Amino acid sequence: MNIILFGPPGAGKGTQSKYLVNKLNNFQVSTGDILREEIKKNSIIGQQIKKNMNEGKFVSDEIVNELIEKIINDTQKKDKLIFDGYPRSLSQAKYLDLLLDKSGQKIDHIFFLNVNKDIIIERIEKRKILENRADDNTETILKRYDTYMETTRPVLEFYSQNPNFHEINGTQEIDQITKEIEAFINV
Ligand code: AMP
Repeated sequence: MNIILFGPPGAGKGTQSKYLVNKLNNFQVSTGDILREEIKKNSIIGQQIKKNMNEGKFVSDEIVNELIEKIINDTQKKDKLIFDGYPRSLSQAKYLDLLLDKSGQKIDHIFFLNVNKDIIIERIEKRKILENRADDNTETILKRYDTYMETTRPVLEFYSQNPNFHEINGTQEIDQITKEIEAFINV
């Protein structure tokens, strides 16, 4: 089963995707984590990624799509993908459809974790202390939220036409969100 977890930064996509990965024995596809790994290598691409991330901007589709293509074409991961933080723009969403189609796969469920801006800021301020992420400071958080609203909202419109699109109230307790997701995927 391939699932997309969708929503603003701090919506709880990472938490739910880690749970689903264990439960379904699937693979988490977090472009944020993959990009952070690339930064650690301190390559030229890594330095560019770091700059974009710390400014709250998106990393280019060219870089992200290339990383994604490798994962989708990995036969071990076929039909076992939990997307967390990808796709984030309409062009990425269309590219994902194309890659899945080419590899004989589809998206089974799309969950939109809906959370308002005030709660996001509160959650990311807390996460900053726990995870020590360089992009979790107030200025970058606000920029990331604006980037999300501008670039990711059209993806929401695109997916909301899909019969397997489900909106979940992301301000609820973690367990309640998990229960609602599980009800849709019948596990
Ligand atoms: P995340 O860990 O998902 O919150 O992502 C952290 C940062 O990584 C984002 O603010 C972007 O700079 C970058 N990033 C993650 N996923 C993508 C993506 N699909 N497209 C472009 N940039 C991304």
